[in-house]
Amino acid sequence: MALNGIVENINIDWYPDRNSQMPIYEQIVKYVCRKVSSGEWTVGMKMPSQRELAHKWGVNRSTVVTAMDELASYGIIECGYGGGTRIAGNTWSVLMSEQGADWNRYIRAGEFQANLSTIQIINKLEFDDYIRLGTGEPDPKLFPSEMMKDIMVELSGNMISLNYLEPLGLRKLREVLSVRLEKEGIYAPPSCILITSGSLQALQLISICMLKRGSTVFAEAPSYLKSLQIFQSAGMNIEGIPMDEEGIRYEAIAKHIKGFSRKDYDHMLYTIPTFQNPTGILMSEMRREELFSFCQDYRLPVIEDSAYSQIWFDRKPPLSLKARDRNGMVLYLGTLSKSLAPGLRIGWIVGPESVVQRLGDVKMQIDYGASSLSQLVAARFLETGMYDEYLTEYRVEMKKRRDNALKAMEKYMSGKAEWRQPEGGFYIWTTLKGNVSTDQLFRKALSQNILLNPGNIYDFASNKALRISYAYEDPENFEKGIKTVSELI
Ligand code: PMP
Repeated sequence: MALNGIVENINIDWYPDRNSQMPIYEQIVKYVCRKVSSGEWTVGMKMPSQRELAHKWGVNRSTVVTAMDELASYGIIECGYGGGTRIAGNTWSVLMSEQGADWNRYIRAGEFQANLSTIQIINKLEFDDYIRLGTGEPDPKLFPSEMMKDIMVELSGNMISLNYLEPLGLRKLREVLSVRLEKEGIYAPPSCILITSGSLQALQLISICMLKRGSTVFAEAPSYLKSLQIFQSAGMNIEGIPMDEEGIRYEAIAKHIKGFSRKDYDHMLYTIPTFQNPTGILMSEMRREELFSFCQDYRLPVIEDSAYSQIWFDRKPPLSLKARDRNGMVLYLGTLSKSLAPGLRIGWIVGPESVVQRLGDVKMQIDYGASSLSQLVAARFLETGMYDEYLTEYRVEMKKRRDNALKAMEKYMSGKAEWRQPEGGFYIWTTLKGNVSTDQLFRKALSQNILLNPGNIYDFASNKALRISYAYEDPENFEKGIKTVSELI
């Protein structure tokens, strides 16, 4: 994939078959054509040199040259001047598609927008050998494997089925969540909780079930929501609302709503009050009160995303907006992804019963429910108290990582950037000083095997920020990565 001006090198994990009747050069031609026509190799990607290929495959260089000449004559590759051999076009696949389906046309036809190209690159490279300085996932080394093993062993002993579950999700899981939420001041009977496949799915369900095309979703600027295409793909606008140190400056929403004449369309507010992604800002008690009464006055429904609310360091965050909600104004999203395991794909949405029923009905049509196994595991993990035990240790470890990260930042980044000390969550929002392009830095960091999350992907206007995460890399790797980034700057 050649995205955002970054040339990606092709890795070849194939060898010609020496026992085949087909000449080797022809096998090479067929192999490359297959890769290009399937879309795995796209225009601009760079192939290894002919010398490297001959060496790798144990064939004469002339065999490779013959194959490459043939591919070049089809217009599939281009042998550049000093730039090596690149994929130049997929004319061959277009020719072939006359006999089959024109998949390219169909691919372009879908309503759902593609990911931002920077995110596509990040998603792809995360599984290679990179230091991940922006990743919003816990370090796998923190995974409570012994506890998980105990749960799995216990479950396997009395598992009676893995059938579909009821539309709102495993009753036991909703019951334990209901008890936990009550301790946080949220009244949520199991009938008002829907289990989702991660909170991402909760957002997806809201976008397709609850808002018309043309409606507006307000969100903090910058916001995690802006990095997704969920609402945009469903035809909604996302409007960025500025923040200060206390959280979203909600007054700005009033202007938009008042100036909005198209009465047919609705609005919603999406907010991450606790350790916001990407800024790490914790909304103050006062701002929460004011924001909540503002939303009530304007009858503006709220999606409150609490993904990071369990990951506090020195003191518990103020009560959620949902805890203040007596009229069902707030749809509250939770997840186990940030505080336990993103791969479980367990999230939940709390809201008025009518809303939850509607979303649950659509969810049944989409996937018949989140994995039954994951729901059983999550319910036991919460019910046995293991989750709380784990969370206590996890917070201590994350705080250590935050402290180490801040030390490393102080050592290598002072004078080059400014940042905010987070009181919880995963992120240090770091704004670069001077004339540095974060896109260029992203590319240069890639060449040093470092993955960064440029702040632009979360923002409504271009910025000079990086979302730095201390959650994924251990302190040693983090420092190594930051030192290199500092040198690159
Ligand atoms: N909300 C926020 C604020 C997030 O940061 C993320 C993950 N990056 C999600 C929701 C989605 O997480 P999941 O679907 O894994 O619950």
